[in-house]
Amino acid sequence: MQQPAQQTIQKEPRRKVVKCPNCGASSEVIEGKTKECDYCDTPLAYKD
Ligand SMILES: [Zn+2]
Repeated sequence: MQQPAQQTIQKEPRRKVVKCPNCGASSEVIEGKTKECDYCDTPLAYKD
């Protein structure tokens, strides 16, 4: 068996499902980034 020449597996950013404090919807946020809620545009921060 041959391995593919280039593997694009790098360290993946951690993700976390965060609940929007405003509308309660769950969104997946990537570590180090801020995502806006899909429903109400509230900024959701990745928090430990
Ligand atoms: Zn929301």
